[in-house]
Amino acid sequence: MPFYDERIETLDESSLRELQSEKLRALIGEISANEFYRGKLLAAGTDFDAIKSIDDLCAIPFTTKTEMVEEQLSHPPYGRLLTYPLSRYRYFHQTSGTTGRPLKCLDTRESWQWWKRCWGYVYRGAGVTEGDIVFCAFSFGPYLSHWAGISGAWHVGAMCIAGGGMNSEQRLQSLIDNRATVLVCTPTYALHLAEVARLRGIDLRSSAIRVGIFAGEPGASLPNVRRSIEEAWGARVFDHAGATEAGAWAYDCEAQDTAMHLNDAEFIFEVIDSESGEAVAEGKPGELVITSLGRSAMPALRYRTGDTVQMTREPCACGRTFARIEGGVLGRADDMMIVRGVNLYPAAIDDLMRGLSSVAEYEVHIRRIAGLDDLLIRIETTRAVPFDEVERAVSKEFRNRFNVRVSIEQAEGLPRYEFKARRYKRR
Ligand SMILES: [Zn+2]
Repeated sequence: MPFYDERIETLDESSLRELQSEKLRALIGEISANEFYRGKLLAAGTDFDAIKSIDDLCAIPFTTKTEMVEEQLSHPPYGRLLTYPLSRYRYFHQTSGTTGRPLKCLDTRESWQWWKRCWGYVYRGAGVTEGDIVFCAFSFGPYLSHWAGISGAWHVGAMCIAGGGMNSEQRLQSLIDNRATVLVCTPTYALHLAEVARLRGIDLRSSAIRVGIFAGEPGASLPNVRRSIEEAWGARVFDHAGATEAGAWAYDCEAQDTAMHLNDAEFIFEVIDSESGEAVAEGKPGELVITSLGRSAMPALRYRTGDTVQMTREPCACGRTFARIEGGVLGRADDMMIVRGVNLYPAAIDDLMRGLSSVAEYEVHIRRIAGLDDLLIRIETTRAVPFDEVERAVSKEFRNRFNVRVSIEQAEGLPRYEFKARRYKRR
């Protein structure tokens, strides 16, 4: 099985902790001039000198995205988040800003090398190598995943086609004509491309695509989503998770058991209770907190991702000793809905809908009725199935899986989305 760095990826737990401590010490030494973190440590009654190993990590206060965005607003344009003088920076990216103001993230030549290395683990984990042709089906812009996906593909020796500035038909044509073997996009967009292909009479199973790496939103680890993509594309599905502000931190291996590996060589991971901030026991769901070990240029120390995960150190069939998260990212705290007392994530709803072959597209409207969140699901069907049958099937699935009653309505001509979160409308 392919590794990016077999020695590192198979280190025993204590050697991994030693490696993390060593990298943490080097990082702390490097960022001592970082005003943002120096101020945070000072306010918490400590300083950089107190951080000597991974055991001292808890002395560092948590960092949130809101805090970083506010820092840039109060000290424009980049806040005091940068460790070095601006002249050392080369790469500019920003977050999509769908959940607030965009955060600007800058990288130096060295920290971009680190991004490429992190993506190296992602690609090698999926068996991507020299001779592969990677097609990145993202709309281009200052969104980091597109550029890191391309740089990472070059880094592992693959050829890469930038699929920006094209519509879905042009992307399909390009990836077929150029015999691309690897597709990188969001899981939602992979399913959309599959539908466009079906309408045009193109059989994607006869394309050269053999691997799909899915990023940008949770979902590719969920069984029904995975199966739908695999069936449409005739390709193996690999999930990936990352964040512009923290790095490309999780990847799938060829064991394909729907638990993603955390990159323990380039990050330190903690799982906490979102309310109390206390550590959560292994195997229990909680919020993932990340310390990026290779990005001194714009550090992320104990960064609260808002992602709900369930960590395990059970051995993986691939031989990697890196921890894993079962079911991938279960959801984002920001996206969680509480419907009649039940916690629901868009990824889980998507998995349910993908299990129903009669559903072509759907939209979820969140309504406030008598002080409670209520879901109205608008559904466009695929074939000539009577709508009341689809309605009954969807209602039954919601009751069985989540013990929740939803309202259902027939719809036509629903828009197709690149991110599933955009299907959710608050009324
Ligand atoms: Zn594995």
